[in-house]
Amino acid sequence: MKTSLLALAAFSLAAPALATTPMPRTLDQQADMALKSDALAWDFVEGITTEVGPRQAGTEAEKRGREWAMRWLTRHGFANVADEPFPMQTWVPGEAKAEIVSPFPQPLEVLALGDTASTGPEGVTAEVVFFRTVDELRAAPAGSLKGKIAYISHSMTQTQDGSQYGFAGPARWVGAGIAASKGAVATVIKSVGTDSDRTPHTGGTDFPQGVAPTPAGALSMPDARNLERMFARADGKPVTMKLTLTPRSLGTTMSGNVVGEIVGRDPSLPPVLVACHIDSWWNGTGAIDDGAGCGIVAAAAKHVSLTGQPLRTIRVLMAGAEETGLWGSKAYSAAHIDEPIAVGLESDFGADRIWRFESNFRDGNRALHDRIAKSVARFGVADSAIVATGGADIDIARDQKTGIIDLQQDGTRYFDLHHTANDTLDMIDPVQLRQNVAVWTQVVGILANEAGTIKP
Ligand code: ZN
Ligand code: ZN
Repeated sequence: MKTSLLALAAFSLAAPALATTPMPRTLDQQADMALKSDALAWDFVEGITTEVGPRQAGTEAEKRGREWAMRWLTRHGFANVADEPFPMQTWVPGEAKAEIVSPFPQPLEVLALGDTASTGPEGVTAEVVFFRTVDELRAAPAGSLKGKIAYISHSMTQTQDGSQYGFAGPARWVGAGIAASKGAVATVIKSVGTDSDRTPHTGGTDFPQGVAPTPAGALSMPDARNLERMFARADGKPVTMKLTLTPRSLGTTMSGNVVGEIVGRDPSLPPVLVACHIDSWWNGTGAIDDGAGCGIVAAAAKHVSLTGQPLRTIRVLMAGAEETGLWGSKAYSAAHIDEPIAVGLESDFGADRIWRFESNFRDGNRALHDRIAKSVARFGVADSAIVATGGADIDIARDQKTGIIDLQQDGTRYFDLHHTANDTLDMIDPVQLRQNVAVWTQVVGILANEAGTIKP
């Protein structure tokens, strides 16, 4: 008791002095603090996934997400918070059911792919034609899929840099369009993913000019493998599927880009643009894609502001409607093309740790590149000579041919969860999320206080 009273007395003497002389941390100290104890990014992603949930592009749910994000930014002291509206073509999923009719009747887990057509409530029943790869589908003769359902398999392996998405992704991005051009009534694919859960991975797909969209869906990995075993055991008998997908187009609706700023000391200098996307697919709660990214960039901007007003403005862009066609990124670039930015960065690859730093100005401004690389080495981030190309939400940086930085996150787990019902807060590792915030704070802080031009 005596000891604690003394301690209390000592504290009460010291406390006023501490309270009246707040020493702003240096950028390094702030980033180190973020690594240990940042709560802002988690608060953002917990808040938006809990209070809003799924945010399908162009819908009322996305609008609630944008309003939620604006309140969060305002509450944390961001200036010029706004929702910049733009029109878009909106697609919403309906019912999704698949079943094998013969020779081994049973249900399969399926989800519709974005921008695909409806089978109608009665569904379509047709023979399934098995293609191991997109190239095999491309080689199928014209008209050979008339009245059939195409099935496209392929394998995707976990990789740290996520490069397998480029290898396996075309099955989703273009498979249904190719099958439709050869007469298929519908397409199902093995989900583009690396898990073994019965949670299909949705995502967008494109139909070529002049090819009418058909119904198309993704089977979960275990269901796709089951279907493939059926082909092996069918002894040449046709495998017939009944597929019911009832998505619909809502036509033109409004989405918007949420913006907010940490205003710099010299507003004549081009700002640093940090971006993410606010929309998500309907099936998960948009935690890793991309609530975490928005939490990371907003938290980093706030941490930089706590080290003192930066030289340049830091503008946060939470783009609307990324998933269904990069509508927000295009609209932002169109609206702001005449307002130069200094450098653009985007976070949209989950919440796992950053492992590599890339810029597009390593040749043009080696001193700055090296300074940033050195500053993040203590967080375990490797330097790289790869030229940064930027994420989907920073079209404006590419359109203006300005500076771009990619802070590459570990993608080993990303495609276990990507575009699935398992994209939830529970999958986020708070320790790795804080490492993202620390690295972003360090990098954005250096950029926002860089007086010279940041040129590729
Ligand atoms: Zn995303
Ligand atoms: Zn996505």
